[in-house]
Amino acid sequence: MIPNLKPIKLKELKLLDSTRFISFEGFLDNLPSINPIKGTIEISYQIKSIKVKGIMSTFIELECDRCLSNYKQKLIYNSEEVIWIASLAENVDEQKTNLGIEEIDDFLDPEEDFDPQHWVFEQLSLQTPLVKHCGKNCEGLSKLPREFSSDINKSNEMGMQDPRLLELKKLLIK
Ligand SMILES: [Zn+2]
Repeated sequence: MIPNLKPIKLKELKLLDSTRFISFEGFLDNLPSINPIKGTIEISYQIKSIKVKGIMSTFIELECDRCLSNYKQKLIYNSEEVIWIASLAENVDEQKTNLGIEEIDDFLDPEEDFDPQHWVFEQLSLQTPLVKHCGKNCEGLSKLPREFSSDINKSNEMGMQDPRLLELKKLLIK
C-alpha cells in the first residue's frame, strides 16, 4: 500500500482541469520488490479519456530459468497510456464508433475511480521478463543434481524447450 496513490474520482479529475502530479515511494502487497517502488505519475483529463504518464522503477527478485538461482532484476516503466472513459452500461461497439477508435483496451466507467496504485502494479508487472535469465555468468544446469540435468539436457536435445516444461521441472526439483 502506497499512501500517496489513493483512488481518484474521474469527476474530481474533470473538475481539476489540469494535470495532477503524484510522486510516490513505497511497497505494493502484490508486487514484492526488494526496495521501494519510486516514481512519479501525471494524470490529465481529456474529455473522453485520461492520459496517464509514468516514470517508475524498482528491483525484484527472480529465479533464473536455467540455473534456478535467485537474481535481482530491475523493472523500469517510462511511458504513457490513454484510458478511455466509456460507460459499461452502454453498448461498447457503439462507443468505439463514437470515439472513433477500433479497440477499447483499457477503459473506465465515468462513475468509477482511477486507481493509480493498481495502474502502477499493472505497468510494472508487465515489465517482468518472460524469460528469466540471471546473466552472462549463469552456471546453467551444472548446478542441478546430475540425474535432473541429464534429463533436461536430453529434453533440450529433443527440442523440448517449452517453458511449461521448465516450470514443471522446477517443481519436481523442489
Ligand atoms: Zn542462471
